[in-house]
Amino acid sequence: MSFNCKRCGYCCTLVPRLGFFEMIKIWLKGNRNFIEKDGAGRRCIKLVDGDCYFLERKDGKTSCRIYDVRPQTCRDFPYGEKNNTGECNVDKRSFKEKYLS
Ligand code: SF4
Ligand code: SF4
Repeated sequence: MSFNCKRCGYCCTLVPRLGFFEMIKIWLKGNRNFIEKDGAGRRCIKLVDGDCYFLERKDGKTSCRIYDVRPQTCRDFPYGEKNNTGECNVDKRSFKEKYLS
């Protein structure tokens, strides 16, 4: 289901987890050295200065350099956190605790 994304980039600072086949798809696009392990040893896309390696910031907006092959966790965002007009309504103070702990 589509929703209204403000392109703030917050979701791209959360260490996106990466399945094996998701990793292969990104690799087949010519990308290398984009993986790191999180504290629990799970495969993730690495962060650079706090942003996903594939995030671009320009003129206050963000975009994904691998949008077509981004992992499922990115596609599913913001999970249940939409308001009744379909706008992404993530509470940054509680989101990590609720979904990523
Ligand atoms: S999905 Fe939400 S947190 Fe992510 S960029 Fe869009 S508005 Fe920001
Ligand atoms: S892969 Fe793309 S959508 Fe997913 S966190 Fe990185 S920049 Fe954001």
